[in-house]
Amino acid sequence: MSENRLQKAIVALKESGVRITPQRHAVLDYLMNSVIHPTADDIYKALEGKFPNMSVATVYNNLRVLRENGLVRELTYGDSSSRFEINLTDHYHIICESCGKIVDFHYPSLDEVESLAAKVTGFEVSHHRMEVYGTCEECKQQKGHKH
Ligand SMILES: [Zn+2]
Ligand SMILES: [Zn+2]
Repeated sequence: MSENRLQKAIVALKESGVRITPQRHAVLDYLMNSVIHPTADDIYKALEGKFPNMSVATVYNNLRVLRENGLVRELTYGDSSSRFEINLTDHYHIICESCGKIVDFHYPSLDEVESLAAKVTGFEVSHHRMEVYGTCEECKQQKGHKH
């Protein structure tokens, strides 16, 4: 898919002085080609065959570095484990309440919400998050079969 975006991301990382280890590259590459918003555990399981000496802690550490450099977005939902995705396009999420699947959808960024919130409250706004919830197509079909 987007080899180009990966290259750009890596250049940006190097410019901010972050070393690109093979593992870090693999984590980035995995996220770049993933649509499932994986947890650190998912990433670990996907890569452990390639890097037998890698631990889950290493995966977390790599994700943290990538997040701090703005390449990766961490999605936290209550007390379930964080999910991660590459942070190269702005988008919103719709979440299935039955299976927890997260799907991207695009909608113009609600910038006016941020400026309104800033104006009304005097806050310096950093970001906003919006999620839409429902039942995904597969879960909808499964429900249908039970009847
Ligand atoms: Zn579902
Ligand atoms: Zn997403």
